[in-house]
Parts: sequence; structure tokens; C-alpha cells
Amino acid sequence: MSDERIPRDFYARDGEEQAAFLSQTWCQNCMAADLGMTNPEEYAIGDRVYITGSCVQCGQPVTTELIEGDDDGYYEDEAP
Ligand SMILES: [Zn+2]
Repeated sequence: MSDERIPRDFYARDGEEQAAFLSQTWCQNCMAADLGMTNPEEYAIGDRVYITGSCVQCGQPVTTELIEGDDDGYYEDEAP
């Protein structure tokens, strides 16, 4: 398994997805969820996909790990 970081195009996602990912964050510096992030960058390592950006509140880096299946680029956040 390679740990090479492969850039992906966050802006290829549809607007609702972008808005959701930008608002659904966890900041370890603020110790708070959903503060939001700016300057998102999406990348994959192995079969995991991450979006990293800057916390809206404190400017520290925040990373969101996406849970998705194959590389179909679609992620649905469904409540159980
Ligand atoms: Zn923060």
C-alpha cells in the first residue's frame, strides 16, 4: 500500500457537497465541531480521501476524512 498523496479536485464536487464539507469540520485547536474551513484541498492516500483546509475561527489546519466506497466521487451523508 502506497502512502503517496494524490491530489483530487474538490471543486469538481457539486455545490451542496462543497458547502457540506466546508461546514462539517472538527478543529483540534478550537476543540469544536463545524466551525467551517477555508482554502479546501482534497487528496487521497491509498483508498482514503481527505479534505484539508484552514479553520475559519483560528486559521489552524483542519482535516476531514471522507468515507466513500470506490472512486465514484459521490458521498452521501445519510442519517441512520
Ligand atoms: Zn479552530
